Amino acid sequence: MLHARSGHLENGEPISPPIVTTAKYALAGTPNTPYTYGRDINPTVEAAEAAIAALEEAPVVAFPSGMAAITAALMITAKAGDRVLVPSDGYYVTRVMLEEILSGHDIRFDAVPTRAFATTDLSPYAVVWAETPSNPGLDLCSIRSIAEAAKSAGATLVVDNTTLTPLLQRPLDLGADLVVSSDTKAMAGHSDCLFGHVATRDDALLAKAAKWRKVSGSIPDPFAAFLTHRGLMTLEIRLERMCANATALMNVFEDHPAIEQVKYPGMGFVIGLTLANEAKAEAFINDCPAIFASTSFGGVHTSAERRARWGDNVPDGFVRLSVGCEPSDALITAIEASLAAL
Ligand SMILES: *Cc1c(COP(=O)(O)O)cnc(C)c1O
Repeated sequence: MLHARSGHLENGEPISPPIVTTAKYALAGTPNTPYTYGRDINPTVEAAEAAIAALEEAPVVAFPSGMAAITAALMITAKAGDRVLVPSDGYYVTRVMLEEILSGHDIRFDAVPTRAFATTDLSPYAVVWAETPSNPGLDLCSIRSIAEAAKSAGATLVVDNTTLTPLLQRPLDLGADLVVSSDTKAMAGHSDCLFGHVATRDDALLAKAAKWRKVSGSIPDPFAAFLTHRGLMTLEIRLERMCANATALMNVFEDHPAIEQVKYPGMGFVIGLTLANEAKAEAFINDCPAIFASTSFGGVHTSAERRARWGDNVPDGFVRLSVGCEPSDALITAIEASLAAL
């Protein structure tokens, strides 16, 4: 990934991708270049796509947010009359899109818990949408077995891989047809831009994703593409620190008297903690100097929020903790002190 761009440079070209802000390109006579118009193609966006494609080992189409990538994935895989299976415990805006927008286009959906995917009959579905670990509940399903079942049912399998990134989980290698990701999270990693992508090794799906982006006008902004590219350059070392910090914190959380339940999928940097009630959970989040109270996850700062505030189907005291890149000792000391004070 680090050399996806630098490996192709001539002497004198910049190592970092220039931020090219243009709506138009010089284009006289017969168009003999792919650089026709800013809604179709942009060199800074292409640099981000090349880096992500190196990680996915698959072609990538970038979008201005995770939801723009998810919308593209739904629009190119489901058509009127189809049914889509989604996780009832997955990213809720995907269900809002299906329930409030796509239902009006005669696309129906069913939502079942991630843990029930293995035993769900997939034959009614044109599209199976998996998210594992699910966000925020952190439950799991086997992508490999769902892919096999989806294949025999003739369904397209889409996996939202936001929570783990292609460095920790590779859905395309496990049989998924299409991956979607919110790169706003760990991929860009600094909580300073929105970005998303779809990746697929299926040429027809890839062409449809590119066509959808062009005709719907959802190309990312070049500045966000630059920030995402820059963030990606340190993805591996950020993840190393985040995952090591999460493992170290698990030693603190397991058996801690202030914590009723801990959920951790065994890898990654998101931990689900259930505290006694809303007040304890809010005090834990707001009084700890090493926790940034905010929604979202995957950034360099450790952050947390109580997901019940959005109406997620979790206990009032459930906290989603996104472990960041702070020095481990300082982070653990601050979190231990905060738990002790509850
Ligand atoms: C945040 C998130 C999204 C949406 O991404 P945006 O970049 O905020 O549009 C989609 N799926 C999952 C799992 C997410 O966590």
